[in-house]
Amino acid sequence: MRAEIIAVGTELLLGQIVNTNAQYIAQGCAGIGLNVYYQTVVGDNRERIREAFRLAAARADVIIVTGGLGPTQDDLTKDALSELLGLPMSIHGPSMEKITSVFQSRGLEMVKSNERQAHVLEGCTPLDNDNGLAVGIGLTKDGTHYVLLPGPPKEMKPMFDLRAIPWIRSVMGEEAAPLHSKMLKFAGIGESSLEHRLIDLIDGQQDPTIAPYAKEGEVSIRLTTRATSPEEAERKLAETEREIRGRVGEYIYADRDVPIEHEIVSLLIRSGKTAATAESCTGGMVSEMITAIPGSSAALRGGIVCYTNEAKHELLGIPSELLEGEGAPGAVSAETAALLAERVLERNSSDYGLSVTGVAGPAESEGKPVGLVYIGVAERGRSPEAIKLQLSGNRGSIRLKAAKQALYLLWQ
Ligand code: ATP
Ligand code: MG
Repeated sequence: MRAEIIAVGTELLLGQIVNTNAQYIAQGCAGIGLNVYYQTVVGDNRERIREAFRLAAARADVIIVTGGLGPTQDDLTKDALSELLGLPMSIHGPSMEKITSVFQSRGLEMVKSNERQAHVLEGCTPLDNDNGLAVGIGLTKDGTHYVLLPGPPKEMKPMFDLRAIPWIRSVMGEEAAPLHSKMLKFAGIGESSLEHRLIDLIDGQQDPTIAPYAKEGEVSIRLTTRATSPEEAERKLAETEREIRGRVGEYIYADRDVPIEHEIVSLLIRSGKTAATAESCTGGMVSEMITAIPGSSAALRGGIVCYTNEAKHELLGIPSELLEGEGAPGAVSAETAALLAERVLERNSSDYGLSVTGVAGPAESEGKPVGLVYIGVAERGRSPEAIKLQLSGNRGSIRLKAAKQALYLLWQ
């Protein structure tokens, strides 16, 4: 079933408030397997609200509306729907009693417009509002289902969860199977090459759907399926996951939504090993990511930020001849990365040493291009290795990707 969310309110159009209601409702729709195809925002204008309803009815099966159920002249949602559908409005008795008693108990005088909050449309299911006075509406007309909810989030949210969702489920019938998702997390592969290797699966996807995306230096795939039981969902998701693992399994570091540093810390703790970091262009990001995880003191001995050549030399004893001068490999080189990793391991008596040195930009350095990064990994009892990367993006994203890639190499 197709759904549309309509938020009514001139304040929303003017950008004075953020449309958090639509976000909340959209998430709730996903939870019951209702596909939201459109979100509309319309001002407090009767003709335009009616027009928005007319448009939505032509392209959606379920229309969920928030705002404009209050008592004032600019609260026009019910009037607009009543006009469009040619359904008369009447007073909902229990809501009217509630409004009257609230006014009485507060010693306030009730005016005619307050009645408007008790208005319902003929043939509808009134949706009770436990946190306010305006009654909501569930209504089916000509095969389209309408849900009207108030604008204030503290009224709208509980009403949506407790009254609207059950009503929508009842009209959806069989289709109300919830969506189940599973996340696969990748490292060491970019979003585009991942997509490229799965392109036929992604293009031919139906159920489960396969959605790759990149965020904060990490690449993920979300698999989503509709199923009536967790067992059915698991079976469907497992089949697609197997297919993906067959192609790019070596890059998957987790099958749930966790950052790579989380996996590193648990791996190090499980194996009783420790690491130490020497960071140049990432300026401590790698050790920051690790130490953000509780319990990481058992995994990380320490870290050094050696940003300048002097720091690399003085703090970790990298020979000046390696760093500068005619024909020297330079600070951004495999030789320096490997030596940084080895030295930081020795200084910290750790089991692993990890280093990052590169050109984060915006300008090139040592005649080397922006995005060129070397990561060094040293392991006790083995000679250190370095890996060369050419990363894309601005300074911020190059640094972030470099830090995540370093963690990935340690994880391997
Ligand atoms: P009221 O009885 O308060 O007038 P109402 O149902 O008529 O309620 P609106 O007048 O449209 O609702 O909005 C009332 C308040 O609710 C807004 O000032 C705003 O603070 C909040 N609100 C309305 N719509 C949204 C929305 N889409 N997202 C977040 N907040 C909203
Ligand atoms: Mg209002």
